[in-house]
Parts: sequence; C-alpha cells; structure tokens
Amino acid sequence: MEKIRMTTPLVEMDGDEMTRVIWKMIKDELLTPYIDLKTEYYDLGLPARDESDDQITVDSANAIKKYGVGVKCATITPNAARVEEYKLKKMWKSPNGTIRAILDGTVFRAPIIVKGIDPYVPHWKKPITIARHAYGDIYKATEMKIDRPGKAELVFTDENGNETRELIHDFKAPGIIQGIHNLDESITGFAKSCFNFALDTKQDLWFASKDTISKKYDHNFKDIFADLYENEYKEKFEAAGITYFYTLIDDVVARVIKSDGGFIWACKNYDGDVMSDLLATAFGSLGMMTSVLVSPDGKYEYEAAHGTVQRHYYKYLKGEPTSTNSVATIFAWTGALRKRGELDGIKELSDFADKLEKATVATIEGGTMTGDLALISKLSNVNKVNTLEFIKAIRAELDKLM
Ligand code: NAP
Ligand code: MG
Repeated sequence: MEKIRMTTPLVEMDGDEMTRVIWKMIKDELLTPYIDLKTEYYDLGLPARDESDDQITVDSANAIKKYGVGVKCATITPNAARVEEYKLKKMWKSPNGTIRAILDGTVFRAPIIVKGIDPYVPHWKKPITIARHAYGDIYKATEMKIDRPGKAELVFTDENGNETRELIHDFKAPGIIQGIHNLDESITGFAKSCFNFALDTKQDLWFASKDTISKKYDHNFKDIFADLYENEYKEKFEAAGITYFYTLIDDVVARVIKSDGGFIWACKNYDGDVMSDLLATAFGSLGMMTSVLVSPDGKYEYEAAHGTVQRHYYKYLKGEPTSTNSVATIFAWTGALRKRGELDGIKELSDFADKLEKATVATIEGGTMTGDLALISKLSNVNKVNTLEFIKAIRAELDKLM
C-alpha cells in the first residue's frame, strides 16, 4: 500500500509523561505505517521548555499561526513540586495559556460517544460541545475585603482625567467587593470563533448569560453576539441549515439536560469552567474528551482534554503494566489530519482520519478497552487491555478498513 502524502506540515507539539509515551505509540502504530507524515516538530516536554527558556512554546504557537493546524500532546504546568522534580530554572507558565494568548482562541471540548459507555443523562445521544470564553471576568478580578464602614465606588478615569463614578455599596459593616472587566475585542473574537466552529461542524450554537440581572456587563456579551450574527453570520447559518439561539444561563441548563445533544454551548469564562467539568463527568470519562483551540482567524490546535496522567507514568517508569486511555489523543491527531486534509484538498488524508476514528470506536464497542472504560462499560464482553495492546487492537481494526 502506498502511503498517503501530505503537502503542508502539521505543527506537532510533543509533551510530557504518560501522554508522551502514548504519543510515540500512536505515531509508530497508527500513523506512520499509513501516512508519509509531514510535521514541524516542537518539543514542549518540560525539559525542553526549560532548556529554551520556554521560547519553544512561543515558537510552536507562531508555527500554528503560519501553517494553520497543530496537534498538541498534554504537558505539565509546573508547580513548586515540579520545579523541584525537574530542577527547573523557574516555574514556567502553562503552555496552553501561552499558546492561547498568542492565538487568541476559544477552546471547544466535545466527548467521544461509544456504545457501552452511557452518559448519565440517558437521552444524550449526540455530543454536546462546550466553548469557553478564556479571557477576563473573575479570572482577572481585583478584590478587597472591607473591614470597616465606608463607601465603595466604581471609578473610571479617562485619558483627560475625567471621572465617572457609580456607588457599589455604602458599607455599614464588614463585607467584600470585586472588580471585574472584559474587552469588546475579546468577546468579539470569542463570538467569531463560536460562529465559525458552528459552521465548520454544522451544529447549532447556543449562548447564554445573565443579561436580565447584569444589564450592562452580560448584556454587552449578548449584544456583541447578536450584532455579529445579524451582520455577518445569519445568511451563512441559514444556508448551512443551523441556528443561533440566545437564552438565560439558568434556562439553558434546563434545556441542555432535556436535549438529545448535537449542539455547541458557548459559555462565559466561569460558566465554561464549571460546565465543562460537569459535561466531561456526565459523558463518562476524561479519557474520552477532545479539545480544540480555534482562533478568530481560523487557526486550529487539537489536543486531548486530560493531563499527562502522572500516576500511570510513575507505574510505567517502574516497569509496571499501565492501561492508559489513548482515545482523546488519537482524536487530537485525527482532528488535525482531517483539517489539514480539508485545507490542502487531500481527501485521502481526511478519509484516513475518519477510518482511524471508526477503528477506535469499533475497538471499544467490540469490548476491547483500557481500565478507565472497563470500569464503567455496560458491555458484557469487556476485555481490559494494557496501553500498547489497546493501540495494537485499534491497528488491527484499522487494517480491516484500509
Ligand atoms: P490528568 O493527567 O488528567 O489525570 C488525572 C486522573 O484522571 C488520572 O490519574 C487518571 O485516574 C485519570 N485519567 C486522565 N486521563 C486519563 C487517560 N487518558 N486514561 C486513563 N485515565 C486517565 O490530571 P493530573 O494528574 O491532575 O495532572 C497531571 C499533569 O497534567 C499535571 O502536571 C498538569 O499540569 C497536567 N495537565 C495538562 C493538561 C494539558 O496539557 N492540556 C491538562 C490538565 C493537566 P487514575 O489515576 O484514577 O487512573
Ligand atoms: Mg475547572
């Protein structure tokens, strides 16, 4: 069989620990036997980030800007323990945060649905994709504890020194205050990423906030989405047969629970933080959650939603068997390969991505799966396998499809 050829390289961002081990297995077993894999390789493993003073992370994000599509392995975000463990020069920032800041993107997370792993909500038949705005609100807040009576005010001073004031509260007793902000540019970028992703995946888009209570702050989000939709996206949505729908955050949670899935749920920063964990758990397993960062100008970075699975890695280092789920990382690769195929007009590449996903799902639905899934599967013929055996089982399925 002749290998599938690529024209533009994928930006490949390697990572840490167990996911780095899986990364190589996926390439060796599931990709390079079939594809003449063309990547521009960036090592985002912690030692290489430390060695380059984290320049490699910045370079990899710029490469995505240049080529348009990247695929990323999970990486360690160092804390004090990691600084000690890896003898780091300093506590480097989260690579995902750095990349997101450069691409100015929105993260979309969607579960991979397979028979036998049932969502806690039985009528969720299709995936629900969460889009979380990743700038501002309480994540860039200024807070104060008030310990004595006094007046708290919001004060805006313009460039000429003119002040605008609003009373927050006239404190008679101790309390707390918080100042938050957001930027029209960031909200617009978020909205564009959501509209574009909805068109890309042909799914309805839902957005909710609390504009009835927050008549300026949340209302501004609602207005930016509404204006963009009316002026730039309405016709495209109608042509694609999809809808944009705005409602209140408390109304949307009820609708989400009653739905059968198959839409994108755009969330403000805090709502997205909370709701993405809720959805990941409700759909079954972190090992089955995909994640893609989409920039407002249409650059894509695919990854798994989970971390480096540190506990499994230490077992692996001791030579003990591991049963780590590689599905979300495989789907990061298929997402990136399919997108590359679409952009470069290489149908065989997109078809290959479809087949690899089919083979992965068929393997699990046939009963062969890793430990995390074996624990929750409703199938009667569950065969729990180790990390490499699982990938080899997918390869056997894939060979049937090729
Ligand atoms: P984690 O790697 O997501 O793992 C947490 C636990 O979830 C694991 O111990 C395991 O449970 C289960 N799990 C997650 N993924 C799994 C998989 N693919 N297969 C089977 N089980 C899986 O989170 P963490 O241990 O809190 O973080 C480890 C490192 O990852 C940290 O240094 C953190 O900075 C980094 N991280 C990176 C990213 C990213 O790059 N996107 C995201 C999150 C965290 P059991 O141990 O019970 O089997
Ligand atoms: Mg969270």
